[in-house]
Amino acid sequence: MRISTVKEIKTREARVGIVPAGVAVLVQDGHDVFVERDAGAVAGFSDADYEDAGAKLVDQAEAWANAELLVKVKEPIAEEYQFLREDLTLFTYLHLAADRPLTEALLNARTLGIAYETVQDSTGLPLLTPMSEIAGRLAAHAAATYLTAPEGGPGRLLGGSPGVAPCRVVVIGGGVVGTQAALLALGMQAEVTVLDTSGTRIRELDNLLNGRARVVMSDPATLAHELSTADVVIGAVLVPGKAAPQVVSRGDLALLRQGALLIDVAIDQGGAFETSRPTTYADPIYEVDGVRHYCVANMPGGVPQSSTRALTNATFPHLRRLASLGPYRTIVEDPVLASGVNTCGGAIIHAGVAEALPELP
Ligand code: NAD
Repeated sequence: MRISTVKEIKTREARVGIVPAGVAVLVQDGHDVFVERDAGAVAGFSDADYEDAGAKLVDQAEAWANAELLVKVKEPIAEEYQFLREDLTLFTYLHLAADRPLTEALLNARTLGIAYETVQDSTGLPLLTPMSEIAGRLAAHAAATYLTAPEGGPGRLLGGSPGVAPCRVVVIGGGVVGTQAALLALGMQAEVTVLDTSGTRIRELDNLLNGRARVVMSDPATLAHELSTADVVIGAVLVPGKAAPQVVSRGDLALLRQGALLIDVAIDQGGAFETSRPTTYADPIYEVDGVRHYCVANMPGGVPQSSTRALTNATFPHLRRLASLGPYRTIVEDPVLASGVNTCGGAIIHAGVAEALPELP
C-alpha cells in the first residue's frame, strides 16, 4: 500500500504522524512510504532518519497525491482540503462535530476519514488517552511555572521548601488528565486534592494515590471550600461527547485567594470554568476579576518530541493493521478501526458527528 505523512501546517503544531521506526516496519511489511521533507524536524526526526528507514522524501503535494493512506496528527486545515479525494483514506485527529467546513470538504471529496479520537476498544478511547496523559502532566508544569514571580505569579514554589508550606492544588475531574496532573504535582511535593463526581472513579483514585492526596466527592459546598483554600485549580472534567460541565462560575472567582491560578485543561471541550476562553502558547494567560487563567487548547503541541512518541506508540499498531487490510474500505472487518470511521463515500458514518451536524448527509 502507498502510505504518506505530511508536515503539520497548523499554527505551532510540530508533531508528526509516523516516526522513522514505524516507517521501517511498514517498509518491511511491503508498503511504500512517502514522507514530506522536514515533516519530523521539530519533533526530533531528520529527513535522513526517515530515508534511512526506507521512506521516500517528497514535497507536500506529492505526499498527498501518492497516498492511498495518509496519516497525520491534526485535522486538515483549509489549505489542505484541495488534497482530499475519493480513493484516499485519512487517519488523523478530525474533531468533526466542531468543524463543519472540514466535514463538508470530506463529504464533497468522498474521502474515507478515520478519526483518532473516536477509535474505541475495550479500554476506552486509546488514541486520545496519551494526549490527555501529557496534558495532565503539563498542567502541573504550568502550575509550577505560572506561580513564579517572573511569570506574573505570586512568587511561590509549588512544593514549598524545608520549613515553608507547599502550595495547594485542587484538581477537578480525576480521569486521565486529572490523575496525571495530581501525580506530577505530588511528585513536586504540592498538597493535592482531587474532586470527582463518580464514586467508582473516586474509589480507583483512592487506591492509586493511597493517602498521598485527598480524594473527595464533588458537591457545591465541598467545591466552594476547596476553591477558597486553593493556590492552583486545574479543570479536568469530561462528560464524553458533551460540552464540559462548568464547575466554576464567575461568581466563584471571589472565593479564591489572592494570586490563585486557574488552569483549564478541559478548554478543548468548551472549558470547565465560566470565565475560560481558549488561548495558545503564544499568549497562554489572561486575567478575569484579578484571577489568572491558563487555557491552552493544544497543550501537547508544546512538547512535540514527547507527544509524537506517545501518540505514535498508540496509533502505530492501528496504522499497521489499517495498512494490512489493503487499499480502501475493507476496514469494516476490524470493529476497532470501524469505530473510528467518521466519513465514507460522501456520508457521515459516526453517530456523534451526525448528531452534531444533522443537516449534512
Ligand atoms: P476522562 O474522561 O478520563 O476524565 C474526566 C473525569 O471528569 C471523569 O473522572 C469524570 O467522572 C469527571 N467529571 C465529570 N463531570 C464532573 C464534575 N461535574 N465534577 C467533577 N468531576 C467530573 O477525561 P480526560 O481524558 O481526563 O480529559 C479531560 C479533559 O481534558 C477533556 O475535556 C479533554 O478533551 C481535555 N484535554 C485537553 C487537552 C488540552 O490540550 N487542553 C489535551 C488532552 C485532553
